[in-house]
Amino acid sequence: MKGKRNWRIIPVLVIVLIAVSVGGYFVGENIASSRYQAQRGKDILLNRSAWDGLGEIEGPIYVTGHKSPDSDTVGSAIAYAALLRALGYDAQPVVLGSVNHETQYILDAAKLDAPPLLEDASGRNMALVDHSEYLQSADGLQDAHIISIIDHHGDGTVQTGNQLIYDARPLGATATIIWLRYRDAGLSPDQQTALVMMGAILSDTKNLQAEKTTFADREALRELSGIAGISDTDAFYNEMYKALLSYEGMTDEEIYFSDYKEYETEGRKYGIACMKVYDEESAKDLAERMKALFPPVLASTGMEMAFVKVSISHDDLSIAYLVPSDDAAAEVLEAAFGETAVFDGTSYVITPSVSRKTVMVPAITDYLKAHPEE
Ligand code: MN
Ligand code: MN
Repeated sequence: MKGKRNWRIIPVLVIVLIAVSVGGYFVGENIASSRYQAQRGKDILLNRSAWDGLGEIEGPIYVTGHKSPDSDTVGSAIAYAALLRALGYDAQPVVLGSVNHETQYILDAAKLDAPPLLEDASGRNMALVDHSEYLQSADGLQDAHIISIIDHHGDGTVQTGNQLIYDARPLGATATIIWLRYRDAGLSPDQQTALVMMGAILSDTKNLQAEKTTFADREALRELSGIAGISDTDAFYNEMYKALLSYEGMTDEEIYFSDYKEYETEGRKYGIACMKVYDEESAKDLAERMKALFPPVLASTGMEMAFVKVSISHDDLSIAYLVPSDDAAAEVLEAAFGETAVFDGTSYVITPSVSRKTVMVPAITDYLKAHPEE
């Protein structure tokens, strides 16, 4: 009898020991997690305090991306304006031109209207996203009050003597930087904002396939698509891409300016227009049409030279047709890409395709610096 009782107490002891250790573990976890919460709370306050430095801002803040708006520019403007509003500022997104078919697809999916057009920035409070070049920005920006620049390009010509919030990071999309800033402020975008941010990242990273895609872009896309309620981002990207390829109902001039940027190196100004097509036949056709368009667009834009990039980029295809505006522009392309590209009489055809931002602009800049105008 005695022995039996002694044996019975062992399972009880085991259960008590387990309970004590499991309980202790959870108490430890709770202490660790409340420490984390306190640290996180402090991080949020530290990040938000930068905004106090800007002091009282009179009037609304206009948040704009670049001219010839793309999906990252529009999505980032909408998202950054929403973040500024969440931080207590009077902010509104604007655009500097009509949105392209891809961006319209994203806005429709988010049930949002395109932001209103800003004609002139002079005298206004401005926050710039996805660019920092005067040539690519709003007219009158020289006479505006720039309070913030969020960008993922090289540092451009825009300068201000004021203190500002300037955040440039080499990530795949400006929208990813804005997602990180939401986190830093302890905030989350709403469903509509998350959807346009998701579209922005899909567009700039080519569905995370672009070489410049980072871990942050992947994480941002994962979290934002969850908030947006889009489970199949591949399918969403395919629809975006199909919308982008349709230049239906657009004149050649509208196509030229649909994704067009201007640059200045050593006092010499040039423009690069990008367009995407599905096959080589359309690429050649568009290259010819754009070649014919160069004389009037050089005259109307005041550029010294211009380049058109028609690219095919889907499945295993990656080809760019680089069309020079004239002999001087052809010399630049010959020097920069002559070894890898094949000239077909109109275009320098290069495989795989090259990025305007990370390949063409640096190559043209190098050439113009090495060949200053006499
Ligand atoms: Mn852009
Ligand atoms: Mn961008």
